[in-house]
Amino acid sequence: MFQALLLTQSDDRVTNAHIRALDEADLPAGEVRVAVAHSTVNYKDALAVTGKSPVVRKFPMVPGIDFAGTVVDSADARFKPGDRVLLNGWGVGETHWGGLAQQARVKADWLVPLPDAFDTHDAMAIGTAGYTAMLCVMALQAHGLTPGDGPVLVTGANGGVGTIAIALLSRLGFEVHASTGRLNEATHLKALGATEVVDRATLSAPGKPLQKERWAAAVDSVGSHTLANVCASLKYGGTVAACGLAQGLDLPASVAPFILRGVTLAGVDSVMAPYARRIEAWSRLARELPREVLTANTETVGLADVPALAQRLLAGEVRGRVVVDLAR
Ligand code: NDP
Repeated sequence: MFQALLLTQSDDRVTNAHIRALDEADLPAGEVRVAVAHSTVNYKDALAVTGKSPVVRKFPMVPGIDFAGTVVDSADARFKPGDRVLLNGWGVGETHWGGLAQQARVKADWLVPLPDAFDTHDAMAIGTAGYTAMLCVMALQAHGLTPGDGPVLVTGANGGVGTIAIALLSRLGFEVHASTGRLNEATHLKALGATEVVDRATLSAPGKPLQKERWAAAVDSVGSHTLANVCASLKYGGTVAACGLAQGLDLPASVAPFILRGVTLAGVDSVMAPYARRIEAWSRLARELPREVLTANTETVGLADVPALAQRLLAGEVRGRVVVDLAR
């Protein structure tokens, strides 16, 4: 038997989260069974656990869009018992039982070898948010961005994606500006590598189609008016890597920045990203993200703490990353 967070839905579509003891036989089909050591609470997990958004496609569901652990048994020759692995996305925690349990059974294709540089706690201190931050950096660089082009804005700066994006970009030599609603966290954002802190209220209301050219590029985890204003404020030829919707799913923008300033809107998806891109992102994280960033940016909780933590995360009260220790 093992412990899991199980989500059920009542007839009136209210999501309930309970800790349950499950048996190996309860696990969904898959080639590889993993003893999960650490998982996390990402924004999407918080939506799933609270039921605030229809992230979960079938009930009962074990949430958790990512995990790191050790292979217990494998019907796939690529993995053997004892291998250290991690998983991000692929619908795990949405359509297939996920990482907020002491065991998971998944497709072999979904697993990535854990880089030697990390233990399972480190890997989940990065988690899907940090891996997505690296995908955003890769997207900006693929569009030719270099530090000489000018400052890069990171929105949702105190969040999981935001904090890791700031740390990565600053260590690559970029001048990083951080947009946040929590100006009281400016010292922390500067310690991560931001040189300027921008009040997110200056970006979150409807704005003009073209505005003063301020940033060479941006990592946006917020969407909605913020993304529209960011596009309108990019320098000629700038790129924004758009990965999130913390303000909203809408994009009330005009085409002006794209057709008059050659701005590029680069979409970033971590869930279905191809294997080679995942390996590149995790290899770069292993090389480029200093361990001390993870220590200063992470709180660790147990499985029973997850429902309350999900509420705090959606209320914007969590700074950085949250790791779930499945042994607690
Ligand atoms: P977090 O909750 O950790 O961070 C989100 C941050 O956004 C908050 O900390 C806050 O930063 C800011 N924010 C919250 N509400 C608002 C608002 N109404 N207006 C403006 N800013 C707001 O989430 P993550 O960093 O884990 O994820 C960020 C987004 O990226 C989410 O929408 C998530 O779904 C998405 N995402 C997408 C992925 C993909 O594959 N495309 C993968 C991972 C995440 P502050 O307090 O500093 O203002």
